[in-house]
Amino acid sequence: MPARVLNGNEIAADLREEVATGVADLVASGGPTPGLAAVLVGNDPASGVYVRNKGRACEEAGIFSEIFYMPAHVSQANLLSLIDQLNQDTRFHGILVQLPLPGHIDEATVIERVNPVKDVDGLHPISQGRMLQGEPAFLPCTPSGVQQVLLRSGYDPAGQHVVIVGRSNIVGKPLAALLMQRSAGGNATVTVCHTRTRDLPEITRQADILVAAMGVPGAISADMVRDGAVVIDVGINRVDDATRRDVDYEAVAAKAEAITPVPGGIGPMTIAVLLSNTLEAARRSVDANR
Ligand code: NDP
Repeated sequence: MPARVLNGNEIAADLREEVATGVADLVASGGPTPGLAAVLVGNDPASGVYVRNKGRACEEAGIFSEIFYMPAHVSQANLLSLIDQLNQDTRFHGILVQLPLPGHIDEATVIERVNPVKDVDGLHPISQGRMLQGEPAFLPCTPSGVQQVLLRSGYDPAGQHVVIVGRSNIVGKPLAALLMQRSAGGNATVTVCHTRTRDLPEITRQADILVAAMGVPGAISADMVRDGAVVIDVGINRVDDATRRDVDYEAVAAKAEAITPVPGGIGPMTIAVLLSNTLEAARRSVDANR
């Protein structure tokens, strides 16, 4: 039987509708209109598309957003001073710095400059540390999107062996922390693989839930997946439409229980979680001012 396709567009639309309702309720109760500042450095076309999509999604959910454009040659000092301004600007409850940044800018320094109370991308070390310790935190958007797709599709990770291929600070590592957490939505047994992993197929074949977050088109072939596994493809590779996925989709779909497509899988979830985090940041700003 062909795999069930986990439609990220539909699940994300549900989440965005919940956010829109939350925004309307917050405003109706005298709270602020949630605001998101998006910072875009340079003119990478894909980053531009991502940021504009996020802006459009904000508008649909009733979230105020503004894009701050900086030229590719901006100095790190000037970028940091923009972040300082946005940290102070009460119209914005969330700040998003679109990655990647040009090579002369240190991403970690920029991420750490964002006030953690506005870190709706969930990438600040304070957010990630809090998440690791199981404390309330803004969850990083892509890992949280993966978790939501699983939960909302009826695949509770609890007790499952989740194998994640990729250990970046944006996807693999925080996803592992999230899914192993001793709380609802977690409780998985997690294995994290990377380029130094010995005999990758041997490990991926043990996965009940396999997450590919490698950025290598077609890297997960059918022989690396056990029959009946749930396969989540985070990869977005800028090659062409046929080879954008990390997973060899048709062959893997023939033996998996469920699979996310690319596009229309985790990508839209990432945006929906960003909106949800921005709403949460606005709610917290009300609590902080009480
Ligand atoms: P990175 O390049 O930062 O990390 C890739 C990870 O995959 C590394 O840990 C690397 O290992 C591992 N890896 C690469 N090749 C192999 C291999 N052959 N075998 C085993 N492990 C391998 O990428 P990101 O985590 O930022 O992104 C991963 C993918 O997800 C990309 O395609 C990206 O475009 C996509 N993405 C999608 C998002 C969405 O919204 N859907 C959001 C963010 C990312 P090592 O550490 O040893 O180098």
